[in-house]
Amino acid sequence: METVYLSLGSNEGDRRANIAAAVAELGKVKGIEITSISSIYNAAPIGMKEDTAPFLNCVAALRTTLDPLELLDRLEGVELALGRHSKGLYTDRPIDIDILLYGGRIVALPRLSVPHPRMAQRRFVLEPLAEIAPQVLHPVLKRTSSALNALTADQQVTREGLAHA
Ligand code: AMP
Repeated sequence: METVYLSLGSNEGDRRANIAAAVAELGKVKGIEITSISSIYNAAPIGMKEDTAPFLNCVAALRTTLDPLELLDRLEGVELALGRHSKGLYTDRPIDIDILLYGGRIVALPRLSVPHPRMAQRRFVLEPLAEIAPQVLHPVLKRTSSALNALTADQQVTREGLAHA
């Protein structure tokens, strides 16, 4: 069993419902047990076209028996089930699910990089991660989520309330 942290984001349709549906679908996957979910945060899109709609984001912690690529396959299945229409493009999306951390492992495969390569620069990831796991270590940078989050205070991210509310 490994502890995994996922980032979930939505900027299309009923964003809160999309996140709730993704969490519900994840909870049904064999080999995944969700152990905690952060509040929902509102963030301006980063690295996208100027007219991109704002995202709601949260972080989920899980315990899993799936290996990293099996987990990625299941996450892609959930994204597609929720109507994700394109991969790899910076575009509007009902749900985007990324693997942030997989235990203390470092994964460098063509399909999968863990820790997520951009997590340490993104307050919309670090703020919810630090909410549910302030002491979790980034295995490359060797800093906690809350220490990394303190370095992103210039980015605008607002807490919107609980994921399940
Ligand atoms: P996106 O369109 O932003 O969801 O990007 C998804 C692509 O990123 C997929 O093709 C994945 O294979 C790849 N990828 C690489 N590292 C990760 C990660 N840590 N979590 C999720 N997807 C990843």
